[in-house]
Amino acid sequence: MKKNGTQKKKAVSKKKTLVAKTVTPCKANVIYLDNNGTTKLCKEAKNAMVMWLESRANPSSDSIIAKKSKELMECARKYILKHCSVNASKYTIIFTSGASESNCFILRSVVDSYKQHTGKKPHIITSATEHESIIQCCNSLRDSGRANITYIEPNAYGCISPALVKKAITSQTALISVMAANNELGCINDIRAIGEIAHDKKIPFHTDAVQLFGKYKIPLIKNRVDALSMSFHKLYGPMGLGMLIISNALIDGYNLKGQISGTQQNKLRGGTENVPAVAGAVAAIKSTFANRSEKNKKMCLQKKHIIYELEKALPQGTYKSYFSKKKPKRNEFLVLGPESNSSYKNPNVLPNTLLLCFVKNVSFSKEGYKPFCNVDLKKCLNRRNIVISVGSACATSSKKASHVLYSIKAPEIVRQGVIRVSLSDNTTKKEIDTFVKELILCLKKQMPLDDPTGSGTSK
Ligand code: PLP
Repeated sequence: MKKNGTQKKKAVSKKKTLVAKTVTPCKANVIYLDNNGTTKLCKEAKNAMVMWLESRANPSSDSIIAKKSKELMECARKYILKHCSVNASKYTIIFTSGASESNCFILRSVVDSYKQHTGKKPHIITSATEHESIIQCCNSLRDSGRANITYIEPNAYGCISPALVKKAITSQTALISVMAANNELGCINDIRAIGEIAHDKKIPFHTDAVQLFGKYKIPLIKNRVDALSMSFHKLYGPMGLGMLIISNALIDGYNLKGQISGTQQNKLRGGTENVPAVAGAVAAIKSTFANRSEKNKKMCLQKKHIIYELEKALPQGTYKSYFSKKKPKRNEFLVLGPESNSSYKNPNVLPNTLLLCFVKNVSFSKEGYKPFCNVDLKKCLNRRNIVISVGSACATSSKKASHVLYSIKAPEIVRQGVIRVSLSDNTTKKEIDTFVKELILCLKKQMPLDDPTGSGTSK
């Protein structure tokens, strides 16, 4: 049958939709200050990955070319475990698609095994500041009746008190899972103290170490850590590769089962391993930990410089004052999270993370008063090729405010003005200077900076 004109056109357009569109990455030259979101692949990781990209060496195969990839996987595991001051007889590495998968793996496997072995409903202790992957997984375990969950509330700076963790333990606590450092506030939890409490009570301790892993070494036994999650794209490695380091005592003691069926990785995680990514991951750790303490010091100074320069334009207030009845009567900025204790051995804040908040004076609110909007600020910076992130959202945005800001009980006026600035090892002084200059210009669009009271009466 002959096709008429319209049918022919339809056939042509159908053919067109089958052609895959080539999408290329954005090459805009930006000042990227969202490194807690993801980091740029380092050249060492890229080179290591390129070497393996065309290899057909599947580590599960017994072909003559597979031998090398098996060796690579073994060397990678040994190297990473050594980096964490443990050896392969005590701990196992399970490579995953990222920390979200690692977090869900440990929670679900422990819950399943505990129920199977004791016949009782497991209890999990975690914190209200965890990453969504922990919060959502715990909520689903709770809502399906598979586990009882206790969420420990943080203090005003976002830190989890080990004493509160201890208090929450019951005879059915099957796992304690508390993050090593918070991705928004940058606060570092005392995982050693929490690990000690868990160890004394013979309860396994898991920590989501995504944000801390690339900044400081985490000796696992010293910190009494039985399981640790991390993602390699947070330390200049490839996206889509994470790991769960887990003690053999926990695997054997609980007889843990994988969540993705298959024969790979000792049946603990099915699926052919991402060999090039593993090669990149090892190179990324090596390169990230070269001159680590200098890199951390440099970022701490850059953060101080941002605050110092901002203070020239706008006074700095204190977060705690927002809980008193007397509200500040001026435009000001706040730094959320703990003030740094400047210790390299026992730091309390991530060296690269700065959670800033801009507050517009409400006490002089006239008709037409609009609170400060972090989303507008983000857009203004974006137009100037600066990338930051907003942990929560102002009232004009459809994005829901972050659970972390609710957990530290941040009032609405604070939640609406929060932006997160997260530096990288390679952030330059010039970038910081440009950022501060543009930030001040953007702030001026929302509030007068030469008149902090907003009253129009001061200087
Ligand atoms: N945990 C924390 C603390 C994070 O910051 C993130 C990512 O931002 C994750 C888990 C999840 O990592 P991924 O998205 O690579 O699975």
